[in-house]
Amino acid sequence: MPTHPLAAPLLAGQRRALARAITLIESTRPDHEAEAQALLAELGPHAGGAVRIGLTGVPGVGKSTFIEALGLWLAERGHRVAVLAVDPSSVRTGGSIMGDKTRMPGLSVHPGAFIRPSPSGGTLGGVARRTREAMTLCEAAGYDVVLVETVGVGQSETQVAGMTDLFVLLTLPNAGDELQGIKRGIMELCDLAVVNKADTDPRAANRAQSQLTAALSLLTPHGAEWRPRALQLSALNGQGIEAFWEAVQEFRGTVDLPARRRTQTAGWFDELLREAVWKTFVQGRSQVLGQRRSEVLAGQLTPVQAVRALLDLPLDRPEPRPR
Ligand code: GDP
Repeated sequence: MPTHPLAAPLLAGQRRALARAITLIESTRPDHEAEAQALLAELGPHAGGAVRIGLTGVPGVGKSTFIEALGLWLAERGHRVAVLAVDPSSVRTGGSIMGDKTRMPGLSVHPGAFIRPSPSGGTLGGVARRTREAMTLCEAAGYDVVLVETVGVGQSETQVAGMTDLFVLLTLPNAGDELQGIKRGIMELCDLAVVNKADTDPRAANRAQSQLTAALSLLTPHGAEWRPRALQLSALNGQGIEAFWEAVQEFRGTVDLPARRRTQTAGWFDELLREAVWKTFVQGRSQVLGQRRSEVLAGQLTPVQAVRALLDLPLDRPEPRPR
């Protein structure tokens, strides 16, 4: 098998090669895509060695402060830390504030760290896919901790929880009062809930921690291999970082991560297949799809009948173009 020129320097841990490889996977040019997939296939066997941590929370909760504190703490202990992001706003605006180096001034210049903003443009699924692939590249380059941050809106947490070993929700000391506001869906995804800014109001932080503990225990099915727990910390002055890392280690010692990753990979494959089949089928068929949709709306066909009729069309032969 031919070797991609970026493979060797990337495996040797060169950040420039890693950055260039990520640029390659982010490209939308079809020839780049084939090249990127070949590179990923080549590097795949060298990946998988990191602990993958997903992190979510509303803007202002302290995500970048926390990543900076945790990242530096880890880097000082010899870990190599990569920070990636899935930023839903980058889909709309084409730009991203997440994973922005200026938000993590210390970590961004540390030789043991690598920070990459969220890929922009495309769909959220596309952004998530590229982040997932970037994670593979970071692991192949020897990063042993990968932090993937996202902001707590919509589908992006599900995407990030689906590509990480452990999912962390960052909240504020008034989280108890806001517990209603934290979407149940996010609580169900999280393995650790962290009350940040505990320094601002220690009593409220204690209260929030107990309330989160109670809420998490209600959501956890009996006999689950890991009981999600609540912690508190102050990212700004570094308090609680060590306890957080201990919880991560305990999690890794408890949960069957290879099984979790296999389930995630299978789910990702299914998702890609669904998307590809849908795209292939819909492409060049706007006329017939529109026609069937109108018939459904006019009550001439039931939705099931319309879909059955469409499925009789060959998958790869779209309607002839109108001349
Ligand atoms: P992000 O939008 O979630 O990334 O939030 P930032 O990390 O940018 O933090 C928002 C603000 O909260 C900044 O002014 C931080 O300095 C501040 N902040 C973050 N963590 C703490 C903390 O533990 N204690 C206090 N007092 N302030 C904090």
